[in-house]
Amino acid sequence: MMTADKKPLGLYVHIPFCAGKCIYCDFYSFRPGEESKEKYIEKICGDIKKSPYVFDTVYIGGGTPSYIGASALAGIIDCARVTPGAEITVECNPSDTGRKDTPFDFAALRSAGVNRISMGLQSAVDSERKALGRRAGRDEVLRAIERAHSAGIDNISLDLMLGIPSQTPETLRESLEFCVSSGAKHISAYILKIEEGTFLSEHTERYDIPGDDDAADMYLQTSDYLTGAGFVHYEISNFALPGYESRHNLKYWQGKDYLGIGPAAHSMIDGKRFYYERSIEKYLDGCPAVYEGEGNTAEEYLMLSLRLSPGFSLAEYEKKSGIKPGGKFTEKCREFARAGLAEFDGDTLRLNPRGFLVSNSIISSLMNLL
Ligand code: SF4
Repeated sequence: MMTADKKPLGLYVHIPFCAGKCIYCDFYSFRPGEESKEKYIEKICGDIKKSPYVFDTVYIGGGTPSYIGASALAGIIDCARVTPGAEITVECNPSDTGRKDTPFDFAALRSAGVNRISMGLQSAVDSERKALGRRAGRDEVLRAIERAHSAGIDNISLDLMLGIPSQTPETLRESLEFCVSSGAKHISAYILKIEEGTFLSEHTERYDIPGDDDAADMYLQTSDYLTGAGFVHYEISNFALPGYESRHNLKYWQGKDYLGIGPAAHSMIDGKRFYYERSIEKYLDGCPAVYEGEGNTAEEYLMLSLRLSPGFSLAEYEKKSGIKPGGKFTEKCREFARAGLAEFDGDTLRLNPRGFLVSNSIISSLMNLL
């Protein structure tokens, strides 16, 4: 077990509370009673204090972390042993943090060490936001960003959704312009996936949802626009100004260790993956995390490295697995390059945005050749 004197790892804390449910969301979240909120905060604080680790990144996600308020969030962060210069991110919903009539204490977050805020914009077009079930409007998002900036937190990440109901290339452009002009340093852009069991999956006929080809064009439009504005497309769905890549999320994709606290949270420690079940009751009862299997395997390296701009290296794969990919594998890599989906220099395969769009089929065809 890695202890305080060993290499620092990432800490993910799940806050499973939301004021309402967005139509597309299948994250583990619900509206809590006051009592369960308090019990939950106490339990996660206890679990963080008990953990023997030191953290160089902390990410409080959800759900809606800002729903529990700035001082509770600061209290949670205080429980963790963090290294100097740790990246500490909190997900904030603009409906908690940007309302005119309700101040949100970003200064308390800053004092607790928070240096990065991730905010759900989804769209800068109010009618699109409303259709998704987002309560705040564009003005609240802007106000929340300004408040965070005034408190000294300048590293803001915005989530953007592509292929959402009624979205067009023109309205997407409006959202992209908003992202860049807001001073955000990082943008996560996800194509809408209709998850089973969500309100959207049961009422698709009510919405004008762009088709797959239109959504793919919007993804390419997003990549072109943001890279043109100086952002680096460093992961399939993530863009950052140079130096503002998410250090915490990179741990997931680079096979590094992290500890997840809370129901539905996942961990990888010393090459082993664990997760807590999606049940706050079980978590509060002290049910332990469930073993999920080996992590950071050579197979995972293939899957995860192709999500990232530096790509997949054959030499690195050989180092991890002891197996040298054969001629058919390298020929396939060349084929992807000839098809305009990637670059391949004989060792490293790097997908471009067109390749990212079909990365699942690229990964499975390469997997079959190993
Ligand atoms: S705010 Fe986020 S976690 Fe909560 S319902 Fe909406 S998408 Fe899901």
